Amino acid sequence: MLNILKAPNPILTADCAEISINSNDPSKIMVDTPEGMVTLPVFISVMVATMYSRPCCGLAAPQLGVQRKIIVYNPDLENDPDEKDTDRTIIMINPLITNSSEAMEKDIETCLSLPGIEASVKRHTEITVIYLDEDLKAQTMVAKDWEARIIQHEVDHLNGKLFWDRLGPMKQTYMNKYQLAKKRKKRHGK
Ligand SMILES: [Zn+2]
Repeated sequence: MLNILKAPNPILTADCAEISINSNDPSKIMVDTPEGMVTLPVFISVMVATMYSRPCCGLAAPQLGVQRKIIVYNPDLENDPDEKDTDRTIIMINPLITNSSEAMEKDIETCLSLPGIEASVKRHTEITVIYLDEDLKAQTMVAKDWEARIIQHEVDHLNGKLFWDRLGPMKQTYMNKYQLAKKRKKRHGK
């Protein structure tokens, strides 16, 4: 299992490169991880296992130290994270948001890379995203509401953005809160 990187790790604020699709066979595509080269399906299975082992509903490759455009999520983890219903595990390789609604909505977000803080983040309520699935088949998805929010949050990770980058002038306040939460954690020896 790979560690989850936490801010201010510079990998979290760098742009990720696309996975280069140099074969029709996903198991011929290699991914460079902090623990060595693995095939794309192996890396994806590590991402999925990590997601289900944590209180979260999505994960982006840079959070595991891999600067490549891959996200995994499950919109059904929102309501009951303990239930771990794996029926809707979605894998997106090289996702690109091609359309975003004018309408936006605020909702609370958390992030495994920013432990101890949460904030109300404004996101588009509907998006269109194109991506490759785990079989490298091109897909188009129109996502709404909570699912659209997860995708925007995870795609932001691929572009070096964390949720506090969406908070405008409030970002500094949340950075201070994060520092405090980290110090508190250290003091309690956790
Ligand atoms: Zn996140």
